[in-house]
Amino acid sequence: MRRADKLPGVGTTIFTVMAQRAAQTGAVNLGQGLPDYPLDPLLIELVAEAMKAGHNQYAPMPGLPQLRECIARELSARHGIEVDPQDEVTITLGATEAIYSAMQALVAPGDEVIVFDPAYDSYDPAVRLAGAHCVHLPLLPPDFAMDWQRIEAAVTPRTRLIIVNTPHNPLCTVLSEADVAQLAALAERHDLMVLSDEVYEHIVYAPARHHSALAHPALRPRSVAVFSFGKSLHATGLRVGYCVAPRELTAELRKVHQFNTFSIATPFQHAIAAYLGRRPDAFAGLAPFFARKQQLLAQGLAGSAFRVIPAQGTYFTLVDYGACAPLAGLSDGQAAQRLLEQAGVASIPLTPFYQKPPLQTLLRLCIAKEDTTLRQAVERLANYG
Ligand code: GLN
Repeated sequence: MRRADKLPGVGTTIFTVMAQRAAQTGAVNLGQGLPDYPLDPLLIELVAEAMKAGHNQYAPMPGLPQLRECIARELSARHGIEVDPQDEVTITLGATEAIYSAMQALVAPGDEVIVFDPAYDSYDPAVRLAGAHCVHLPLLPPDFAMDWQRIEAAVTPRTRLIIVNTPHNPLCTVLSEADVAQLAALAERHDLMVLSDEVYEHIVYAPARHHSALAHPALRPRSVAVFSFGKSLHATGLRVGYCVAPRELTAELRKVHQFNTFSIATPFQHAIAAYLGRRPDAFAGLAPFFARKQQLLAQGLAGSAFRVIPAQGTYFTLVDYGACAPLAGLSDGQAAQRLLEQAGVASIPLTPFYQKPPLQTLLRLCIAKEDTTLRQAVERLANYG
């Protein structure tokens, strides 16, 4: 049978692979980024209420108006970012759909998209399925800094868009205000669009601060920012995300969205809007909540063979196994496998996030876990090596 092979080389994601292996071996799973603790029971009640109230048919294509209004109010209150909920906010099936629909809508065959490695695994396939291709620029250890000269040199007449991710998965860093200013100047100079993946926006540890692309006057007119209620409400299974972009970009994105997912789960949208009304401070608690979990892991591993890399945010933390004798000389993929089998802890290697992986000895651990889970993982890691 003749068929297209649109994503050659793409296999099952490292998140799914490690989750399956963890389940098979009974390892403590700090791999795939998802909480193992319950969500707020109020949200569950509100989903049930929404369904009982009959909100079970298609939602409006761009999303429930009251939810989009909540989003606009929140952006205004927290960052002073003014967005029009009618024409600039679209509810999507997680941030992943927002990224996919944005690429389908905004880039064309022959275009180049600049991404920074380690890059979240859905960017490159989304760009390729749109017929464009990614120019991968590495962020290198030890500090993973943005090299603006190198970025400028990578821009060609075919460059259409740059994807940034702040707070960054898997590096756990945030873009500084100076980086955002550099990005804005570059995008203006070359008339580029920016896709800003900000799904971990609420999980930033002081003194670091989140700098949204939407808050920068030069980036706002050329940026699509994507967000995730799955992350901010501790419920990745909701699959409700959203995308904020200027009117013209939103109009294009919605053309794709309406034929991709059309609209997003109605009862969830009602429940989230009601929830944000009842818990206006829901997001303010996220940074301290995760900072404490990060500390628990960092303090637990202090003095062990695993060096915890300082984190500025996200669901994750990086550890360096370079000084761990039983893992000496192993690639990060091998080290992750060895830790799973011998220490009983699942982690995520960084190599799958790079086009050309540098030599490094880092593994990503998910901190969105019960304290007991984290303590168990710490004990196993500390006793290993
Ligand atoms: N965002 C999650 C992570 O980084 C993975 C989601 C997925 O498995 N596709 O772990």
